[in-house]
Amino acid sequence: MERSFKKEVQALRLGDGDIFHGEGILAVTKALLQSGVSYVGGYQGAPVSHLLDVLVDAEDIMSELGVHLETCSNEASAAAMLGASINYPLRGAVTWKSIVGTNVAADALSNLASAGVAGGAMIILGEDYGEGASVIQERSYAYALKSSMWLLDPRPDLPSIVRTVEKGFELSEASRAPVMLELRIRACHATGQFAAKDNHKGAVSGLDKLAGPPRFDYERLAHPPVIFTQERLKVEERLPAARAFIREHKLNETIDGDVTDIGVIVMGGLTNSVLRALERIGLADVFGNSRVPLLLLNVVYPLVPEEITEFCADKRAVLVVEEGYPDYIEQAVNVELRRAGINTRVLGKGPLPKVGEYASDVLLEGLAAFLQDAKPKDIDADTLAENARGLVAHKVKAAAALGPLPPRPPAFCTGCPERPVFSAIKLMQRELGPTHISADIGCHSFATFAPFSLGNSILGYGMSLASAAAVAPNMEKRPIAVMGDGGFWHNGLITGVVSNLFNKGDGVLIVMQNGYASATGQQYIPSSAMSRAGTAPGMDIEQTLRAMGVRWLRKVRTYSVSVMVKTLKEAMKTAERGLKVIIADGECQLARQRRIRTEDAEKLKRGERVTRTRYGVDDEICTGDHSCIRLSGCPSLTVKPSPDPLRTDPVATVIESCVGCGLCGEVAHAAVLCPSFYRAEIVRNPTWRDRLKHHLRQKVIGWFGGYSGEAAA
Ligand code: SF4
Ligand code: SF4
Repeated sequence: MERSFKKEVQALRLGDGDIFHGEGILAVTKALLQSGVSYVGGYQGAPVSHLLDVLVDAEDIMSELGVHLETCSNEASAAAMLGASINYPLRGAVTWKSIVGTNVAADALSNLASAGVAGGAMIILGEDYGEGASVIQERSYAYALKSSMWLLDPRPDLPSIVRTVEKGFELSEASRAPVMLELRIRACHATGQFAAKDNHKGAVSGLDKLAGPPRFDYERLAHPPVIFTQERLKVEERLPAARAFIREHKLNETIDGDVTDIGVIVMGGLTNSVLRALERIGLADVFGNSRVPLLLLNVVYPLVPEEITEFCADKRAVLVVEEGYPDYIEQAVNVELRRAGINTRVLGKGPLPKVGEYASDVLLEGLAAFLQDAKPKDIDADTLAENARGLVAHKVKAAAALGPLPPRPPAFCTGCPERPVFSAIKLMQRELGPTHISADIGCHSFATFAPFSLGNSILGYGMSLASAAAVAPNMEKRPIAVMGDGGFWHNGLITGVVSNLFNKGDGVLIVMQNGYASATGQQYIPSSAMSRAGTAPGMDIEQTLRAMGVRWLRKVRTYSVSVMVKTLKEAMKTAERGLKVIIADGECQLARQRRIRTEDAEKLKRGERVTRTRYGVDDEICTGDHSCIRLSGCPSLTVKPSPDPLRTDPVATVIESCVGCGLCGEVAHAAVLCPSFYRAEIVRNPTWRDRLKHHLRQKVIGWFGGYSGEAAA
């Protein structure tokens, strides 16, 4: 995996009287162990990929407590794991990236929420909303509302996060409903400390197993006719029970202030950002004290009507700080106040924008607009607003003074095995013309950026082939669907391949077989050469596809660009109907480099021979047309001034970061570009044979009148 937590997870053994220092993700794991979970699972995805990595690295510690860990094949299987808490007093937690993961898990979640739970069931959502996001901008709130699951959004500091996890399990059990814990990008990587507690074994666990299933109880099934009873239970029993628990245990917090005629109601996860904005205009300090009273919603659903009315009763106006749209909380606050006959004005989307991340400057301007509108008694709102706008304007001026920064679009890593496939597609299209490309989620989606700009749609993880189903019959040329091996096992196998075969589709599928779920940090997948157990999982994409009836199947090494071009042309032109699959085989270069660097360092220590391949461009031959750069897009391939004073065009050059994948040379060859590329092998700890070979080569070069290292010396 991308990052190892082997050292950090030792902190999970801390107990009563110890202070835990570390990252938000580790704090969540510690809180799970303190809560006595019996099982954990999940599917990787930013921003909680590292949570699953931590759980895997902590497997030994968890097995001492009898906690079962499952690295699930997708979010639906993770959600279904929570079914263990329906009948049994088992606490369990699963994790994934939201909103996309929650979409995949939705069916199991609806069923779980309808049946209700006996043991605490928690879903830890990496909420990927905002400027750093990599997915569609939607929020998980809608799922909480529609399925009656409670949504926790803790203030991003470690004690709050840990308390919310622990209380979340109690809330789930008290109301018999699953809870979702939203971890925003910043909360995942927040560092801090908290007073640790002893870890607890679950009431039932791998160490204390159940003797057998409970007495048959039809009420535990999300099935007619009990779904009608369950609907009533959700609204009439579980919801009031949840509200009573939230109020009794003070899961939401208030910060008192002396400007009492206004207030701010804020989602817990945005608390730090709001306090920072208030601090910038002099209405709060760096310790979290505020002059404006705040109601912090560590539970954003359900809201507790009494808490809302008590907070608002003596205020002329409140600002609801709720990131994203629709404005669920703002609407609910309005409803509760009208029901209670309280006339406090509610502002939210208006001073604050309807869409986009509430970053510091956005909040600063929103608060300024709110203060000017609300005109609180004890502060000069106009002056504060002017100051706030001055701060934002200053930043704009500073950015203008710096000038535009060079754009840095996301791109494949140097030497990525997936890049050559897109070079090959471009070369194929030069001859056969453009065709529809169904892109997918994964590193290969970088091909949608320049210089490739390949991809007409993205419908979800593993969905590329399925999303081409209605394109193929309506297009003269066969569409190409691109899918990673992670996406293949996550969803693509059933949603794409089975559906295509079942419907006798005719298209081309490229499966990028790089061996890992690379985009999320190189987690193992069913076809990896290794698993967390240290053995190969033993599932093979080629065998699976053949067993399912795929007849036209080719496996091509990704760096062999000319073979890939030929194979693509064949797939596009063959008269044979049916699904044509090309397995593009090449290990993730990032994972490979990490592996090789460690192995090479060990070899060098032992004085053994180590070689490294590098590519280069001969300055004298390069014509400076740069087709190689346009066709490969490798960040190690760039330009430099021509050493020839008579030529003004810069020449191509290969910089130090080159990992010697050979793509640039391959592309030059496949595209019949130019012969300027050369390959060199750097040998460390050379043997006598290497020295002899070098000596002979220098001699021969010398005879032909070329450069001789010896002669020059
Ligand atoms: S992580 Fe691996 S697969 Fe992804 S871009 Fe980098 S080298 Fe390619
Ligand atoms: S060999 Fe060429 S394509 Fe591969 S990493 Fe080096 S410069 Fe980039």
